[in-house]
Amino acid sequence: MTDLSVGTFLIEDAHASDAVASRFQAVLRRRVRRYFEMSGQSPRGGRALWGKSGVLLTSWCVSWGLLLFWASTPVTAALLSVALGLSMAGIGFNIQHDAAHGASSSDRRVNRLLAASLDLLGGSSYLWRFKHNVLHHSQPNTVGVDDDIDLGPLARLAPGQRVRFAHRFQHVYLWFLYSLVAFKWQWFDDYAMLLLGRVGALRVRRPRGAELIIFAGGKVFFLVWSVVLPVLIHPPLTVAVFHGLTVLTLGLSLSLVFQVAHCVPAAWSDAPVVGRAWAIHQVEASVDFSRGNHLLSWCIGGLNFQVEHHLFPGVCHLHYAALAPLVEATCVEFGVRYTTLPTLMAGLRAHYSWLKRMGRREHDAGHPISQGGPILSSGSQGRALQRCDRAS
Ligand SMILES: [Zn+2]
Repeated sequence: MTDLSVGTFLIEDAHASDAVASRFQAVLRRRVRRYFEMSGQSPRGGRALWGKSGVLLTSWCVSWGLLLFWASTPVTAALLSVALGLSMAGIGFNIQHDAAHGASSSDRRVNRLLAASLDLLGGSSYLWRFKHNVLHHSQPNTVGVDDDIDLGPLARLAPGQRVRFAHRFQHVYLWFLYSLVAFKWQWFDDYAMLLLGRVGALRVRRPRGAELIIFAGGKVFFLVWSVVLPVLIHPPLTVAVFHGLTVLTLGLSLSLVFQVAHCVPAAWSDAPVVGRAWAIHQVEASVDFSRGNHLLSWCIGGLNFQVEHHLFPGVCHLHYAALAPLVEATCVEFGVRYTTLPTLMAGLRAHYSWLKRMGRREHDAGHPISQGGPILSSGSQGRALQRCDRAS
């Protein structure tokens, strides 16, 4: 039977000896494994994922081609720019994300190839493995480790972070900054991480050989299709406006999906993170949303089933809807807090309220989570990286 734990990392400090927590994790794994045995399906993607990937890659090419060679009015150009940004987000959610977790195929080389779709979009599949697979997935919502909740002085997303005057307005301005996330990754963060040899709290080996070729080749390819070719056909200002709209759409889509799944009140509690068993922490630091919206699930790569994704990142997202009732029932049985928000709008409202709450000074100190969760030690960094290498 395929190893369902591929892509997951154990927290060194978690008290896995806790009998209930260990049993919870074991029962979950056994039930999910049985689901695949009974249904005769592979936990990986299969034909359905290939078909979906074809649709998304085609929509990317078509929207780019129409934007470059056909759009003749500002309105059509704007609509196609948004379509291009959404199709890029769709590729990230559905193709790259699964592959980076080793969930698309049982062939490691295929996963690496599909994960490199991020490089075509201006990102770096090499750095993503550390930022997402290691720092985010090993300890979601842990201050000092999870890079996704660290926006520096621009925002306060967690109780353990310093509150500044401007944060009292973050529920208003942060939505615009979210739009800039993709631009920041593409043009600044990836290069900074490369130069510093560091991704968030994690020291990383700089890419070399084929990894460096993919990194540099991706950056050049992105520059050519998104800026150089358009500038050869259209005025630079026109290219700047519509390329900007595309990248803003991409950044906003990526940010909202990830933030709604973790930065909402239900994903935090007053219970200390230290000592919380791995599987329980994954469930309680994540929320599902809009589970009945099949179109949304299709578009965002099943990331509205965030709890299932965090428990089983090595399982292709196409299975999450079927696994959710089984996971939820197991959580109820073991008294583990499992949250599902009814709609995406409910998730956005919850995120808004979390931003507002975190921007207030009275939540600056004394929160148990602010005492800090388990930090990756240099030893556990190494082990996490080894697991990351095996997973991708
Ligand atoms: Zn993930």
